[in-house]
Amino acid sequence: MRNIYGIKRKDLEEYFLSNGDKKFKALQVFEWIYEKKVTKFSEMTNIKKEIQDRLNNDFSFERIEIVKKQEDKLTKKYLFKLCDDNYIEAVLMIHDYGNSVCVSSEVGCNMGCKFCESGRLKKVRNLEAHEMVQQIMLIEADIKERVSSIVIMGIGEPLDNYGNVLDFIKIINDAKGLAIGARHITLSTCGIIPKIQELEKEEMQINLAISLHAPNNQLRNKIMPVNKAYSLDKLIPVIKEYTEKTNRRVTIEYVMLKGVNDNETQAYELAALLKGINVYVNLIPYNETSHIDFKRSTEENIIKFYDILKKQGLTVTTRKEFGGKIDAACGQLRSKEVEA
Ligand code: SAH
Repeated sequence: MRNIYGIKRKDLEEYFLSNGDKKFKALQVFEWIYEKKVTKFSEMTNIKKEIQDRLNNDFSFERIEIVKKQEDKLTKKYLFKLCDDNYIEAVLMIHDYGNSVCVSSEVGCNMGCKFCESGRLKKVRNLEAHEMVQQIMLIEADIKERVSSIVIMGIGEPLDNYGNVLDFIKIINDAKGLAIGARHITLSTCGIIPKIQELEKEEMQINLAISLHAPNNQLRNKIMPVNKAYSLDKLIPVIKEYTEKTNRRVTIEYVMLKGVNDNETQAYELAALLKGINVYVNLIPYNETSHIDFKRSTEENIIKFYDILKKQGLTVTTRKEFGGKIDAACGQLRSKEVEA
């Protein structure tokens, strides 16, 4: 039995057609689920009882649940319990332009980035599309407001769970699903090259962010093991090609680690690496965690780094900080819960 929150409208249309029903039934079901938010097929009053029964046999409404919330003024962090008793987390950020949610894509993560809390807990399994959709729906229900943008930057490496993440994006992007515009969806990856190339062919208007974090292979090998498989000399040309083929600017994420990747030489090196590519660089102040030795760069260093990149002609921003005090940083809440 498949979970209904993980079914794309196109697949539901095929399901109805293969059962000899009209395909517009899929549209009706979507309206019940995503607009009227019903949680039972028996409440879908414009669907015949006989079809409701069949839907009941083939699809479930099994829900994940919120088990813990931590909040400050502009951030709410949610811990969810999945149906198999695994835990994941998502973070709501309240911006002046709307509500944004950072969703998890896997239970744990295998990428092993040395500075990242999520990587300390190895991947247990992929998240199903419905488990990603439900993170958003449960948060919308909790705050009684719409969520208008999504970043896939929670626990997990989305391109290591490609099929489910793509289904998820298609469901939330569907005008009859959660209707979140593609340009309001950002997928962040540590750089799984073959999947970036696959994504390029999907011709979606979503934003792609690459976690770069180092300006050369020597350093990147040390802090991001994925670089041993997909090194910068291969990754950078793939990013360039992606920007050219999709006509979309790519975001380069660079987490500022004190004494590791934040000196002036490294800023010049990063600028040279990215020269002539349609990217913008987002400098992220590192969120320190108690288990990991890395420290956040000083504000002075971040500003220096920023200025050099600017002067070298790059577009640069520094990330506005959310949730530092409520363990909102990258896997910290789940990490506490799993260890408890
Ligand atoms: N696996 C994907 C998405 C999840 S991580 C990726 O690597 O992009 C989301 C972003 O948060 C990545 O850029 C990651 O490197 C960064 N990150 C991890 N731990 C962090 C921390 N403690 N402080 C700030 N950023 C962190």
